[in-house]
Amino acid sequence: MTTAASPRTAGPADLRERPGVPIRLDGLTRRYGSVVALDGLDLDIDAGEFLALLGPSGCGKTTALRAIAGFDRPDAGRVLLGGRDITDTPASKRDMGMVFQAYSLFPNLTVAENVAFGLRVRRRGKAEQAGRAAELLELVGLADRGGRYPHQLSGGQQQRVALARALAVAPQVLLLDEPLSALDAQVRVQLREEIRRIQLELGITTVFVTHDQAEALSVADRVGVMRSGRLEQVASPDELYERPATAFVAEFVGTMNRLPAVLAGGGVELLGTRRPVAGAAPASGPVVGLLRPEALHVVGDAAGTGRVVTRTFSGASTRVLVALADGVEVRVDVASAGSADLTPGTAVTVTPADRPVLVVPAERVEPSGPPAGA
Ligand code: ADP
Ligand code: MG
Repeated sequence: MTTAASPRTAGPADLRERPGVPIRLDGLTRRYGSVVALDGLDLDIDAGEFLALLGPSGCGKTTALRAIAGFDRPDAGRVLLGGRDITDTPASKRDMGMVFQAYSLFPNLTVAENVAFGLRVRRRGKAEQAGRAAELLELVGLADRGGRYPHQLSGGQQQRVALARALAVAPQVLLLDEPLSALDAQVRVQLREEIRRIQLELGITTVFVTHDQAEALSVADRVGVMRSGRLEQVASPDELYERPATAFVAEFVGTMNRLPAVLAGGGVELLGTRRPVAGAAPASGPVVGLLRPEALHVVGDAAGTGRVVTRTFSGASTRVLVALADGVEVRVDVASAGSADLTPGTAVTVTPADRPVLVVPAERVEPSGPPAGA
């Protein structure tokens, strides 16, 4: 097989002839012995939407994706595609493309042959296979690599090939299971933008599984945060970040400081000041205030009880790690311009921005969130 000079039997327009279809998960339940991997999972994914399923390891993301793909049958519940119940439809008849974490290419096939694999299985003509492979390789920026073998490509290039292979059959749905986890940070960022660009270009309904909150927030139309086989919240990245529905979401998405606080008289006292409480709050007494790094202010203050531990420059903003008197550490984001004096050891005062503060009960221990600095 060759990718060169073959008639293009399927141009990009053909891809767009397959508009995205909506997916509905209706009460999906899957048990493995005593482990409940999916616990009545409900989810509506819009036609052409890019939905990220985000959650800690073991929360059921892969199980959910496998149920959508048809690799695994749920114990209860239904999967609907475009309103049609496909729960009992075999994977091969579901018209979905899938990309896995890594190393899923056929090592003995060339890049072009890998991409054309699905068409070969469907007994399409050689010319169509070659034309389609060339077109898809162009789409993922690897037009000149069709004759190579997977081991001759970088990890990022291999995942581009895997993406091209998944899309070659013009599936109605694209499913990606941690496709970037094995890649270097820089390649990861580059490729996630690329995936998003291609997804928008094709308008294909996409479910992207990841445990990396930054990844989920950066590419998805909406993010579903999973915990123990259920969804905690499904919302746009902005809304998840600004208005987390639960403490679990608040602490899993973005960086969150935990500060000792006290509820009294309908407000919350922390860092020596008083602020309104966001959302429903426990009655009264000691609580933990959850504050984003940008919801705190830090100023040099010779009489301040805080001390700068580190100052991490990251372009326009700088993150300052401050040790407070009682052993609590907080991360505060400040504009880089004018923050030069906040060097390690500097005495500072930290105050909360004038906005409502999300609180959780003081005794509650939230399991399996990422570290605050993540
Ligand atoms: P995630 O992809 O979010 O890390 P999974 O969907 O892979 O989570 O797994 C969810 C839960 O189901 C985990 O507790 C996992 O150990 C369990 N599990 C998944 N697949 C199997 C299996 N084939 N056999 C037994 N337990 C499984
Ligand atoms: Mg998984």
